[in-house]
Amino acid sequence: MKIAEFLKSENIFEFALLPYSSLKITDLRRNERMKERFEVKSAVVFLMPYYVEEEKTNLSRYARSRDYHLYIKELSARAEKVLDCDFFCFADTSPVDEVGAAILSGLGCVGVNGLIINRRYGSYVFIGEFFFPFDVDHPFFEGIEKRRAGERCISCGACVKACKTGGIFNRELCVSCINQKKKITDAEAEIIKASGLAWGCDECQEICPMNHGEETPIEFFRNNRILSLDRETVEGLVESGEFQARAFAWRGEGVLLRNIDILK
Ligand code: SF4
Ligand code: SF4
Repeated sequence: MKIAEFLKSENIFEFALLPYSSLKITDLRRNERMKERFEVKSAVVFLMPYYVEEEKTNLSRYARSRDYHLYIKELSARAEKVLDCDFFCFADTSPVDEVGAAILSGLGCVGVNGLIINRRYGSYVFIGEFFFPFDVDHPFFEGIEKRRAGERCISCGACVKACKTGGIFNRELCVSCINQKKKITDAEAEIIKASGLAWGCDECQEICPMNHGEETPIEFFRNNRILSLDRETVEGLVESGEFQARAFAWRGEGVLLRNIDILK
C-alpha cells in the first residue's frame, strides 16, 4: 500500500512529501541514531486535526482526547502492517523542525498567535512525519503555491486582543505555560485563577477567524473524551490507570489538582 492511500484510509488528508535534505535538523543525536538503521531520504509530513465541536471549559481542547503520542504509536503499528518498507514515524519527538517542515510543504502558515494554521483545519492540528530510506518523486512540491493560496493569517489582531496576559509576545506570561508549571509564584496563581483554566489555554485559537470549526474525522480524537477537569475526574483517571494515557500525565496529577484548587 502506498503512503498516500494509507494516510487517507486513516482519515488523514493534509500531508505532503518532501526530500529529507530540505528539512532543518533540530536534534542531531536523534538524526544520527536514525542513520544506524537507515539513511533517511524522504519525508511525509502530515497533520492530525483534533477539533471537536464542544463548549469552552477549563480544559484545553488538545487534551480532551487520549494523548496523541499514543495515536502515533497506533498509527505506526498499522503502517507497519500495510507499508512494504522500513520507516520512522514521529510526532513531537522528531529530529526535524516540525513546524518548519509543515510550512515548507505547504500545509500551513504561522499565525500571529505563533501556531500553524492549515486552510482546512485551522490551528487545531498536531504535526507528524514518516521518514523513508528511498528517494521518491516529490509531486507535492509542484502544488505548493496552489496549496498555500488558501492558508493565511490575515493579521486581524484578534488573537492579541483575546490574550489577556500578553502571552503571545512573552511565553512566560502564557497561561498554558503557567498552568503546566510544577512550581508557581503567587502572581502566577492569580493568573491561573483569572483565566479559569485548569490545563492549557485556547483563547488565541478560539477567536481566530481561520478556525472554521471543521471537526476531526480521526476516531481516536473523537473518542474517550473528557470535557473538563475537576478533582473527582482527575482522581478517577488515576484510579483507573487512564491518567497515563492523557496529554497532561507528564506533569503528574499534583499540578492539575493544584490548579483545580486555585480555581475554587
Ligand atoms: S486571530 Fe487573526 S492575527 Fe491572530 S492568528 Fe488568527 S488570523 Fe492571524
Ligand atoms: S494560549 Fe492563552 S495565554 Fe497563551 S498566548 Fe494564547 S491566549 Fe495568550
